[in-house]
Amino acid sequence: MITLQSYLCGQWQQGEGAGATLHNPATGAAIASCSTRGLDLQAALAYARDVGGPALRALTFAERGALLKRMSNTLHEAREELVAASTQNNGATRGDAKFDVDGAIGTLAFYAKLGAEIGARVGDKRCLVEGPAEPLTRAPRFCGYHVWTTRPGVALHINAFNFPAWGLAEKAASAILAGVPVLTKPATSTALTAWLLVKKLVEKAELPAGALQLVCGSVGDLCDHLLPEDVIAFTGSADTGAKLRRSVSVVERSTRLNVEADSINAAVLGDDVEVGSPTWHMFVRHVITEMTQKSGQKCTATRRIFAPTSTIDALQAELVEKLTAIRVGDPALEGIDMGPLATEDQLKDALKGLALLQHDGAVVVSGAAEAMAGSGGWFLKPVLLRHPEPSKGKAVHSHEVFGPVSTLLPYRGAAEAARLVARGEGTLVCSIYSDDKAFLESSVLAAATWSGRVLIGSEKVADQATTPGMVLPSCIHGGPGRAGGGEELGGERGLRFYMQRTALQGDRSLLDRLLGAKVDDAKA
Ligand code: NAP
Repeated sequence: MITLQSYLCGQWQQGEGAGATLHNPATGAAIASCSTRGLDLQAALAYARDVGGPALRALTFAERGALLKRMSNTLHEAREELVAASTQNNGATRGDAKFDVDGAIGTLAFYAKLGAEIGARVGDKRCLVEGPAEPLTRAPRFCGYHVWTTRPGVALHINAFNFPAWGLAEKAASAILAGVPVLTKPATSTALTAWLLVKKLVEKAELPAGALQLVCGSVGDLCDHLLPEDVIAFTGSADTGAKLRRSVSVVERSTRLNVEADSINAAVLGDDVEVGSPTWHMFVRHVITEMTQKSGQKCTATRRIFAPTSTIDALQAELVEKLTAIRVGDPALEGIDMGPLATEDQLKDALKGLALLQHDGAVVVSGAAEAMAGSGGWFLKPVLLRHPEPSKGKAVHSHEVFGPVSTLLPYRGAAEAARLVARGEGTLVCSIYSDDKAFLESSVLAAATWSGRVLIGSEKVADQATTPGMVLPSCIHGGPGRAGGGEELGGERGLRFYMQRTALQGDRSLLDRLLGAKVDDAKA
């Protein structure tokens, strides 16, 4: 058993008492512990504001990009150790662990390159100008610019258990490039990978003092102690998100809050797609990946599978055949396709959710709504359900079972598919598979109003497209409504959360000099 310390105020610090225990979910064995009892977390916030913020704001965008590059390179060197930690604490297969760790390395590298690009555009300016000058009166001299400047506070990053590496890095990359210091808090149950990741960065990446701090364990009521200049970026359950929305800082001091929460993502098979066509195979491949990658513990995993009444039986037969062949077990062993759920509580929650879906009218057509027998860990085989009347179902559109669980739903016509997708009341991603222009015209933009991202699968991209669950740093991640209403990443867009937009009004030549000569070339 190792004890995970927190990295606060430039030192590794250990909380008092036994604290929480972390497990290997494939065996149930205790592997680590951590505690924050007695630690002065408010001092860490002050250290970030007083030491980390000034240090980062002193750097140009290009220099912050170079820092992110060092961070990416450091994690690349430590890749095998991080993958091993993810297998041990998250129960991830090697493929799933790489998905998390390589996602972290790649996102930091992406933002490092973006830093160099912004640097080439703005030189040593520490602000970003949005769009051209706005004429304000008839007089051409008096104009307005919109300018983004770095907020002088700290970013508190609270992450979910499923992506301990990527979740930390994707948030930190945007904040650090914007010039805001980070206090990052991984979910306690799977903090091992995040702890190791920060340890490597502290040792090797030459981080400016106070730029990145780590809390291993509970943050208690820390969110109530944030100031107007601070931000909270949260990923996790809708319930915790709602609690944070009610925190004193958010309600009374307008501390900025971004929430990434539950999402009942949809995949829609177009009514033009023929059984066995390239688009059909793409759809099947994507559904299987989304149900089983990271044992379905992905916020972007497909939960609702919409198929036309004409092909749903053929689809069900093919999915059942493929899901039955998935080998579930300890990912440390050879030949395993899918590992356990991350914690005992997650398994209990998934089983409760399965019961709810069945009560709602869904029927299990593959797998079983019970824990896998005869293992020491927290395993659930992939479960495919089918709901005969999706327009009457409630839980199937509103309850996220965070595991390898999806439900087949029949529809008749594009209009009905669009109506049913909207019943999710806000998703991170909706994927639509069709080669028919009319079907796409009536479904894509309708889905877009309810989704952070829409992936269109078609024959021409069947061999090239990423799966819908893959979040890429160049496109935004987040979604309306149930998905939390937040937004992260999206290249330069991701920096905005950490910056303040201000309208500057005055003499055009004075503003041009203040902001740099090439302001009209600035990106919107
Ligand atoms: P969770 O229980 O809400 O925990 C998320 C994080 O919040 C953890 O770090 C947790 O810390 C912390 N936390 C809990 N109570 C808190 C409080 N009062 N103040 C401050 N922090 C608090 O969620 P989870 O079980 O880890 O994650 C599963 C859920 O996350 C799923 O519903 C999934 O959909 C969602 N998710 C969404 C996204 C997305 O991008 N939209 C991505 C991944 C997961 P402790 O661990 O110390 O309790």
